[in-house]
Amino acid sequence: MNYIDLHTHSTASDGSYKPAEVVRLAKEAGLVAISLTDHDTIDGLPEALAAGAELGVEVIPGVEISAEFAGGDSMHILGYFLDYADGRLDQRLARLKKARAQRNPKIVAKLNALGIPITYEQVEALSGGGQVGRPHIARVLLEGGYVRTFQEAFDLYLRKGGLAFVPKFRFPPAEALAMIREAKGIPVLAHPFTLGLTGAALKDLVKGLKSQGLAGLEVFYSEHSREQEVQYLALARDLDLLITGGSDFHGLNKPEVSLGRFRSQNRLTYELLASLKAWREKEYGLVGA
Ligand code: AMP
Ligand code: FE
Ligand code: FE
Ligand code: ZN
Repeated sequence: MNYIDLHTHSTASDGSYKPAEVVRLAKEAGLVAISLTDHDTIDGLPEALAAGAELGVEVIPGVEISAEFAGGDSMHILGYFLDYADGRLDQRLARLKKARAQRNPKIVAKLNALGIPITYEQVEALSGGGQVGRPHIARVLLEGGYVRTFQEAFDLYLRKGGLAFVPKFRFPPAEALAMIREAKGIPVLAHPFTLGLTGAALKDLVKGLKSQGLAGLEVFYSEHSREQEVQYLALARDLDLLITGGSDFHGLNKPEVSLGRFRSQNRLTYELLASLKAWREKEYGLVGA
């Protein structure tokens, strides 16, 4: 079968494998296409695309942008088929990178104030040269024996409301959607469960996002239950949104997640990607990847 995975991370953000390694692992896992969707950065794309061309894996240039959202846990917006060489997207993402760079040392300082003597150098050393994210801090906490599990690091310290949480600048959803469209990409709402909404409240929110440019919903996700998949599938059909899916592979920074694999045991096939391409062609008058 032609299996695919449209949500993966590399060392360009908080994954543990380099972009080319993610592509190689995808090949080994028998996938024919993946999208590299690093948080707030497109820096890993050239390497991933080159590796894809070499190994015969189709690599869709993607990104995952954190958007402003008051309720729930987080709102992430994926962008697919980006014209990443255009330059404007990279310029806008630079603002997020700066915010991130300012936040991370503050988290470490808060941990220090709580009596946990980790250093920012340890965190950077673990990040593999790309931008630093909370999962890197979680791993330093785990390896130093300050928490028993990776998840405990988030539950106690790093999650929104945790003891060492520090907020960071995010674009309003409308802006995140617009910058993806400006790069001729397809904007998709990632892992809807992190919004913490169901039923009419979820529908209203997604409808609002659609009016601002949203084109798809990440129905299939490694942590979605079968029931959630069914619920999001119905919502996507109801609102006439594209259906996408991905594992959110982070390598060793999320060891329970494997490329192309889902809690529901579903696999994603190439048809899903074909409908994204058709949408893109229709919307922007473009052909191919
Ligand atoms: P950051 O980009 O630094 O804000 O970190 C975001 C990343 O941290 C997400 O992509 C997840 O990989 C991870 N993360 C966020 N919240 C949690 C949580 N409550 N439990 C586990 N991992 C989380
Ligand atoms: Fe992440
Ligand atoms: Fe995400
Ligand atoms: Zn992700």
